[in-house]
Amino acid sequence: AKSAGRNTARFFDPVMQAAAATHAAMAQEIKAGIERNEFVLHYQVQIDARGHCTGAEALVRWNHRVRGLVSPEQFIPLAEETGTILPLGYWVLDSACQQLAAWSRNPATAHWTLAVNVSAAQLAQSGFVDSVKKALLHSQAPATQLKLELTESMLANDMESIITKMMDIKALGVNFSLDDFGTGYSSLSYLKRLPLSQLKIDKSFVRDVLTDPSDAVIARTVVALGHSLGLTVIAEGVETPEQRDALAAMQCDAFQGYFFGRPVPPEALMADRAIQLPS
Ligand code: C2E
Ligand code: CA
Ligand code: CA
Ligand code: CA
Repeated sequence: AKSAGRNTARFFDPVMQAAAATHAAMAQEIKAGIERNEFVLHYQVQIDARGHCTGAEALVRWNHRVRGLVSPEQFIPLAEETGTILPLGYWVLDSACQQLAAWSRNPATAHWTLAVNVSAAQLAQSGFVDSVKKALLHSQAPATQLKLELTESMLANDMESIITKMMDIKALGVNFSLDDFGTGYSSLSYLKRLPLSQLKIDKSFVRDVLTDPSDAVIARTVVALGHSLGLTVIAEGVETPEQRDALAAMQCDAFQGYFFGRPVPPEALMADRAIQLPS
């Protein structure tokens, strides 16, 4: 399943391939999916060192009328290649903000933050700052509880303009987390200039943190680096209590992974956490 993410042809069946499915056809399929309301957001909890839920990450899925629930690894690369990540990314941001606004109105979840993944093409768009403003305004979501997840690789080009945009968004109260940290090649001097609040240790280092000493060193180093820059550090892909304990012993601030909960629809998240929805 891992390699499928890179293979964009995989999602489209042989019939479409035989018909020489063009990028335009793929883009059309995604646009139609947005119009038909086929995309949904699932939410995965984030847990602090005391074991309390502090919020969630929104992860998109495609509830395709023929193919059923499709993983983002099957269509995000495609959406990025065809440019449809722009309307799809805005749909994600707007829907996530509406969910965050709903949580903020429920005393049990009023303090929750919501992390939203942003693609390089979205951030590169000239209207990106305005689209964040618009989603916040439209939903009335609390800006300070919105967290945008960027990846290291998207910071490689056009650093100055990215920093300017990040500053403008930060000025709205929105926070930034650097996703998949350790897998890219960020220069440490750049890292210092970005208005980040959080580093996210990639799950590839978490998986063998108990057995591979070099992964343990990397995890420990990311925590120390994050803290020395005044950032919190969250680990993703935590699947066992032993991984959680090892990361907690390294002073990691927060955790996310199957051990605490899989990404689920919002109603299931409330039920799992025994949170009453307002009647
Ligand atoms: P990501 O942002 O690094 O998200 C973490 C992925 O790890 C998610 O896969 C999540 O379901 C999975 N995961 C969570 N806990 C565990 C665990 O304990 N073990 C393991 N092995 N995996 C875990 P998912 O939902 O399939 O998303 C894959 C990727 O698709 C995301 O990686 C992100 O890059 C992209 N993506 C998802 N939603 C969006 C979105 O709304 N916008 C954009 N631009 N990208 C998205
Ligand atoms: Ca993420
Ligand atoms: Ca990640
Ligand atoms: Ca990842």
